[in-house]
Amino acid sequence: MKTSKPFPIPVRSYYRCDKCPAYCCTYTEIEVHKRDIARLARHFSLTYTQAEERFTKPDAKGKIRMLRHRKDKIFDSACMFLDQEKRRCTVYESRPGVCRAYPDSRRCGYYDFLKFEREQQGDEELVALT
Ligand code: SF4
Ligand code: SF4
Repeated sequence: MKTSKPFPIPVRSYYRCDKCPAYCCTYTEIEVHKRDIARLARHFSLTYTQAEERFTKPDAKGKIRMLRHRKDKIFDSACMFLDQEKRRCTVYESRPGVCRAYPDSRRCGYYDFLKFEREQQGDEELVALT
């Protein structure tokens, strides 16, 4: 019997990061783990300790490390690695695991909200603030 090669079934996503102002990159707590810091250290040819200090900070309880922020042009603040003009990640190939996994679903809550507001106001470029 001839066996045919399995092919991947495409999974449809209902969000478009290329049409979004990178809202998820403005979340206050973007948690990183040791492997994420090590990856960023390699990306910038730094030591682990240098990368940890430059790119991360502890949360209020000192239990986890989070990506540092800086003031953003649209939202209050954003991850320090966000290109604020292009609204794109500047370390995409070396981004932390949490950024790779997000939104971990076929839908993105912010994108649903953004799409709704754009349709309501007839403006495809609208940036919806929360
Ligand atoms: S908020 Fe949603 S649509 Fe926007 S960049 Fe993040 S995952 Fe993509
Ligand atoms: S590392 Fe990149 S993808 Fe992750 S929050 Fe920062 S800008 Fe966004």
